[in-house]
Amino acid sequence: MRIDRAGASVYRLPAFLRARPRSAGRARTAHPSRFLNKATQIMSAEDGRYVIPQPPQPVIAVAGSAKTFPVRRIWCVGRNYLEHIREMGQDEREPPFFFAKPADAVVPDGAQVPYPPLTKDFHFEVELVVALKSGGRNIPTSRALDCVWGYAVGIDLTRRDLQIASRNIKRPWEIGKAFDASAPIGPLKPASEIGHPNMGRIVLKQNGVVKQDGDLSQMIWNVPEIINQLSQQVGLEAGDVIMTGTPAGVGQIAVGDRLECEVEGVGRLAVTIGPMEKEYQPA
Ligand code: MN
Repeated sequence: MRIDRAGASVYRLPAFLRARPRSAGRARTAHPSRFLNKATQIMSAEDGRYVIPQPPQPVIAVAGSAKTFPVRRIWCVGRNYLEHIREMGQDEREPPFFFAKPADAVVPDGAQVPYPPLTKDFHFEVELVVALKSGGRNIPTSRALDCVWGYAVGIDLTRRDLQIASRNIKRPWEIGKAFDASAPIGPLKPASEIGHPNMGRIVLKQNGVVKQDGDLSQMIWNVPEIINQLSQQVGLEAGDVIMTGTPAGVGQIAVGDRLECEVEGVGRLAVTIGPMEKEYQPA
């Protein structure tokens, strides 16, 4: 993690992917959300009068475009492919559940991901990523795809030893799932171009060797069902991103590894794993 001149931490995001913070004092247009609560309204009203520089807006690249997709929240589905549930020794009948990663965990295609601290069992999980252009609460399955802007390939990077240790003592999963640079996501393709893929090969290669090789049709809960279920738990909005679970074949990552992923009809993503960032950086 490095610190940019404005004092905000930036994970090696190329300049063209870094959205400029709003200039101080500029009037803000009304937020389109129907779900604003009082706390959110207070935060919006204070725009331009922050006591620290505004952190950069995390974004995902859009294939073939200079425009980017601003990320609001990242949700992930746990246990959505039967063979992965089996390899993790979990109950196949248990319904899928959701956990989150911070929006600034996104890293772009081609980036070098630093090996994260604290783990001796760093894992890849290739996943189909869904990016929302609208949201709501209790979204019916039949209307769910209307909320989707597009799709990408992502990796739910996981500190498996810490995730399992947390699980075993009934603590939250953040330490295993929600760390810096834990969400590489490739360029988004708009649904207006590629439609809504519900089948197609999903593959991850580690140093050229195929490790995960599944098909989107193996998802236990499909994209409309995921959106429906998640929207019963939280209000969804434009900018929300959902990582939809991983097929079997997850495995350990080492420094120097190259991970190449592809979802048929959606796109590709490649990242390399760099050394751990240990240096102390004073603010
Ligand atoms: Mn996952």
